[in-house]
Amino acid sequence: MIPYGRQHLDEIDVKAVVETLTSNWLTQGPAVPKFEEALASYCNAEFGVAVNSATSALHIACLALGVGKEDYVWTSPNSFVASSNCALYCGASVDFVDIDLQTGNMCMTALKQKLEYAQSVNKLPKVVIPVHFAGQPCDMESLHKLAKQFGFYVIEDASHAVGAKYKDDFIGCGKYADICVFSFHPVKIITTMEGGMALTNNKEWAEKMRMLRSHGITNNPAMMTEQSHGPWYYQQTSLGFNYRMTDVEAALGLSQLDKLEAFLEKRNALAAYYDELFSKSEGITPLKQSANSYSSYHLYVVRIDLLNSKQHAALVTNLREQGIFAHVHYIPIHMQPYYKNLGFKVGDFPNAEKYYQQAVTLPLFPELKFEEAELIVNSVKAAARI
Ligand SMILES: *Cc1c(COP(=O)(O)O)cnc(C)c1O
Repeated sequence: MIPYGRQHLDEIDVKAVVETLTSNWLTQGPAVPKFEEALASYCNAEFGVAVNSATSALHIACLALGVGKEDYVWTSPNSFVASSNCALYCGASVDFVDIDLQTGNMCMTALKQKLEYAQSVNKLPKVVIPVHFAGQPCDMESLHKLAKQFGFYVIEDASHAVGAKYKDDFIGCGKYADICVFSFHPVKIITTMEGGMALTNNKEWAEKMRMLRSHGITNNPAMMTEQSHGPWYYQQTSLGFNYRMTDVEAALGLSQLDKLEAFLEKRNALAAYYDELFSKSEGITPLKQSANSYSSYHLYVVRIDLLNSKQHAALVTNLREQGIFAHVHYIPIHMQPYYKNLGFKVGDFPNAEKYYQQAVTLPLFPELKFEEAELIVNSVKAAARI
């Protein structure tokens, strides 16, 4: 079976992991800050806070910005549930902004309209979480303008977008957003097994997130509210979690980071090949790419004109029967039973729902061969005709 995504590990990665595994530090050692500094510097951000998943990073990013019970947090319905769950963990209310059908990203016109209405009823969001779907950056300039105009924070869910560029800037540089979150799950661009990181240029938020990932505890006397009892002393000043990344994971992250550029080149080359092979297929449309950005191509998605959800399921089943593990990203979050219980319903975000009925994710990962891509395209074309 050809998976839709897969990690690429080499002997250098294995060596890095084994070296750390046999060192003095399995966790809370030197590899974590080294990985944080390396990725922050790669993306041109000041601070990196490594944690055990992007989900944890989103949670403590919301907390660092002060998200609480009275607040609203908005995100895209075309995402993984973690993009909105993070706000619910903080006791906040969640809402969604419909997407642009062509790109799968949050639609800035829809956002603007929703903000204008929210302002009129005094329910403006505290945070908006754009998701760089499939690795393609959202329209960050427009979002940034709206953030200034309406006064909300921006947390980028860049789980798909390590190494992607918006105009000339790496995602995570903080030019258009307050905090940026990456995921290092094995299907993502680089992996630490499980893992995530939050980048920011704000020292206070970085320190807050560092405390929150480790029980709300500090051993830095400068951050204590009472005098130290002695060299053993640590102090808990807030209610945090154990969201730490291990040194073994960070060592893997560091050696994966060395390959990031090569991974992205291969992903982009494969995506261009797919695009070319699909270019004359009526009814099969790759995601529209913006000319001013560089996608990290976490996913390769096509929209296929299908009559109904039954055909959609049949097509994906057909591909899987042929050994091609096609997938669908994403089931709109508001259609999940948990979210329906919160009051959302089918029909709330029509573009995300329409998109969901048409979307098929095809295999894309550094080890995929061009011949395999060609076979996959032929199978998709045949399956779409049935
Ligand atoms: C993978 C993913 C997450 C969660 O990442 P974890 O590291 O598995 O917690 C969050 N948001 C999006 C958009 C993702 O794709």
